[in-house]
Amino acid sequence: MQGRMEGKKALITGAARGIGEAIARLFHREGAIVIISDILENQGRLVADDLGEGAYFCSLNVKNEGEWKILSEKITLDFGGLDVLVNNAGITGFMETTGLHNVEDVDFASWQEVIDVNLNGTMLGCKYGIRWIKRKGGGSIINISSRSGIVGIPGVAAYAASKAAIRNHTKPVALYRAENRYQIRCNSIHPAAVLTPMWDSVLGEGKERDTAILSIEKGIPLGKFGRPQDVAYAALFLALDESPYITGTELHVDGGILAGAEARPERH
Ligand code: NAD
Repeated sequence: MQGRMEGKKALITGAARGIGEAIARLFHREGAIVIISDILENQGRLVADDLGEGAYFCSLNVKNEGEWKILSEKITLDFGGLDVLVNNAGITGFMETTGLHNVEDVDFASWQEVIDVNLNGTMLGCKYGIRWIKRKGGGSIINISSRSGIVGIPGVAAYAASKAAIRNHTKPVALYRAENRYQIRCNSIHPAAVLTPMWDSVLGEGKERDTAILSIEKGIPLGKFGRPQDVAYAALFLALDESPYITGTELHVDGGILAGAEARPERH
């Protein structure tokens, strides 16, 4: 049976693990040629090798425009352009500081790193993605934002600011396409509570991790953490020609977290 992405070429940033890896695997399963990019070279190559034919690894640090330029030559010469770009690479900044990023104590260097990777990396992706997708006559750019791009979350100020800016940068990219009559759509996905290595530093290990997971799951309307594949299916939909009239929009993949608040009082 023909895959739903047969003949399409897709680049996914930060695809050596977690959500990016799940997107690369799903796109490949649906017949796309996938370019897995990441700063984690060994891990990224392992994913590409595991997928085999039609999967390639390219080292790319998204915050560095020089690396996008080098990749640009490769995408143009070896692949003739792109159909789909997923700007997925992201960091929380939790690891760079001893605590979380509260607004009073935030460390400036760490703040800047989060903005560089998340926001500037996505901006550069959109800049080069438009050029690559134009060559193929049209396609889709998907920016991975977050629930934190919609609401403020105490203690993760830099992450939330960067994700809100990604949400808003998606819209001028979508409108730019309309102005120029490029057949390029651009949408953002807003995941929350998806169990990936990103959570490791927050959850801890062993029993502590189990307890932390249970406690977080109590606050999720669907009662459980999401899986990386749950975000991958949303990206697949936005990547396909099946969503041709959807651009500049926000798709929440959050187990219902942003749908509202629990209003019932606890009964004893
Ligand atoms: P993860 O940490 O498992 O994966 C992130 C990947 O990005 C890693 O492979 C990492 O090496 C790569 N990366 C980091 N810095 C990079 C850089 N400078 N250049 C290129 N690659 C880089 O995290 P994840 O949960 O899979 O997150 C993927 C995306 O989803 C991120 O943008 C994250 O903010 C977003 N997100 C995740 C959740 C969640 O609950 N997991 C929630 C909301 C949003």
